[in-house]
Amino acid sequence: MQGIKLLTDEKVDPPRLTAELLLMHALRKERVFLFSHSGDPLPELAWIHYGRYLHERIGGKPVQYIIGKQEFYTRDFKVHPGVLIPRPETEHLIQLILNLPRPIGTIADAGVGSGAICVTLAAELRQPVIGLDKSPIALATTRENATRHNANVQLIQSDWLSALRPNSLDLLVSNPPYIAETDKPTLQREVRDHEPELALFAGADGLEAYRILAQQAKEVLRPGGRIVLEIGAVSARDLFSDWNDIEIQNDLSGRPCLLTAVLPQDPSFARQK
Ligand code: GLN
Repeated sequence: MQGIKLLTDEKVDPPRLTAELLLMHALRKERVFLFSHSGDPLPELAWIHYGRYLHERIGGKPVQYIIGKQEFYTRDFKVHPGVLIPRPETEHLIQLILNLPRPIGTIADAGVGSGAICVTLAAELRQPVIGLDKSPIALATTRENATRHNANVQLIQSDWLSALRPNSLDLLVSNPPYIAETDKPTLQREVRDHEPELALFAGADGLEAYRILAQQAKEVLRPGGRIVLEIGAVSARDLFSDWNDIEIQNDLSGRPCLLTAVLPQDPSFARQK
């Protein structure tokens, strides 16, 4: 395929998979069609689309935004440049929640983006999940993904947890932004130039969202309620020093990726809220 050579020359990695995904999208066909029709000439319209997609990819646009989807925990999620592309690491968060004793009670996901977390949890646990986001585009995208996967997600526009009532949740989950503004120049151009800033950056030290969540979660969780957060660095732990049962889990490469903590039952803790 000429596309593979072009992508290789332009140092787009991985070239073969990228070319296949773009070609499948240009033809509006699945992978099996590519192999069973590998000798056929491309229809002219498909050439035009394919050429444009290759051009966009070489220009730095992530393949997921070109084809409009990303798989997460076996389901296809619609994505576009208004929402973060779901990452495979976030599947660890899903797995941790699915291993908790049930019933879990009332669950909310803060900062839904494409809906990867709340839609997956609602579908896997077969229970309603509250989805919160400040961004109307994220809420609309999550709505579409929830409908597509038959997931019972109740969406609320909210600046973090501010729309929730006190003592109303048993579990709060979030994959908040955790990149320090100062690290912006070090990011891959695909991320820096194409993914939404709201989903990536969290203040000068990258901990701003955790500060807000640690504070607001004390109000909205019931005593004994749990928080599960994706983290980028172990330093987020310090913000939860007055919580119980704090645990950090590493991903397969040994990098810290999840924090869980439990809100104390203790009334004296509640008074400090
Ligand atoms: N919850 C969404 C996800 O995990 C969005 C996260 C974000 O925008 N930081 O993909």
